[in-house]
Amino acid sequence: MADKRDYYEVLGVSRNASADELKKAYRKLAVQFHPDKNPGDAAAEDRFKEISEAYDILSDADKRAAYDRYGHAAFSGGMGGSGGGGFHDPFDIFREVFGGGGGGGIFESIFGGGGGRRRSDGPQRGSDLRYALEISLEDAAVGVEREIEYDRLVHCKVCSGSGSTSGSGKRACRTCGGAGQVIASRGFFQIQQPCPDCGGSGEVVTDPCKPCRGVGRVKEHTRVRLRIPAGIEDGSRLRSQGNGDMGPKSGPPGDLYVVVHIKPNEVFHREGDDLHCDVPMPFSVAALGGEITVPTIGGKATVKVPAGTQNGTSFRLRGKGIKRLGQESHGDLYVHAQIAVPTRLNSEQKEKLREFADLLGEHASEMEETFFQKAKRFFS
Ligand SMILES: [Zn+2]
Ligand SMILES: [Zn+2]
Repeated sequence: MADKRDYYEVLGVSRNASADELKKAYRKLAVQFHPDKNPGDAAAEDRFKEISEAYDILSDADKRAAYDRYGHAAFSGGMGGSGGGGFHDPFDIFREVFGGGGGGGIFESIFGGGGGRRRSDGPQRGSDLRYALEISLEDAAVGVEREIEYDRLVHCKVCSGSGSTSGSGKRACRTCGGAGQVIASRGFFQIQQPCPDCGGSGEVVTDPCKPCRGVGRVKEHTRVRLRIPAGIEDGSRLRSQGNGDMGPKSGPPGDLYVVVHIKPNEVFHREGDDLHCDVPMPFSVAALGGEITVPTIGGKATVKVPAGTQNGTSFRLRGKGIKRLGQESHGDLYVHAQIAVPTRLNSEQKEKLREFADLLGEHASEMEETFFQKAKRFFS
């Protein structure tokens, strides 16, 4: 750690630089040395990490104070490696400082609107909720309506969400002095964390509302009716706007996301909008031709089978698949013939089959001959 450069020196600012000066210096250097602008340049990457680390420390008032007092030693003791000591990944810091990762690229974010940290004073949007719903393949094929039940947080009606019985009984939290954050000391380390007494809001209710215990929100059992469209895919997410938790301090509600899982079906196998189905076919029907009955979604259909149908032959039933999402058309159903070899034959049946085999004699040996001709090279 002795070879570490002074953080102020790294950012090229004086020891009494203001937060704004620090930010400006950091942005200028971060843009200059950002890995996106210097691909494959290890020196630039090291420099970028150094800059990010310096800014991470100096931009945080508590960490800066600790650094001013103890220097690098404030962050090196016992944490092993420079990755510890409460630093986060420099690339994370970059995203945090410049707002929103990904998307429009770093320059846009730098010059675009302010990307500061979110404050927690005003009303906040409630959490989004997630509900896993399992439906059958038949329901996915034709669409279905479902009512789901779940618990969500809603504004307490007794106190109108204020958490206070009288509606005015709020005071700054004494534990954190209204800041919402407290500093916990561990040796050299000073860690900032949400105040345990006010949950980070900075204020406490003097006359807490009984039903919500001063929180302003209560759990409510909720029912929502959902229309699940025909043709929905496994793993699709449906959004039910405003049906998530209501926000703290009378904030707007989050959304409910319903993740739809389709149960595996023992008869049909889905591929996109098409269905596949293995259908057993008596040997005699396969040989002589005829008709078989096959299952479809919500019914059955008849398939004409030509004489001499082989095992695994597929028959397509147009429009008997799954309805295409948002369209009027349907996929197809593919029926795959599984020729059934008879089992548990009685003696008469066996006798007939032997007679049949004898009659087939010549034809069968021809088939064998052609096959062994083809397969010869595998036997040598
Ligand atoms: Zn209440
Ligand atoms: Zn507090």
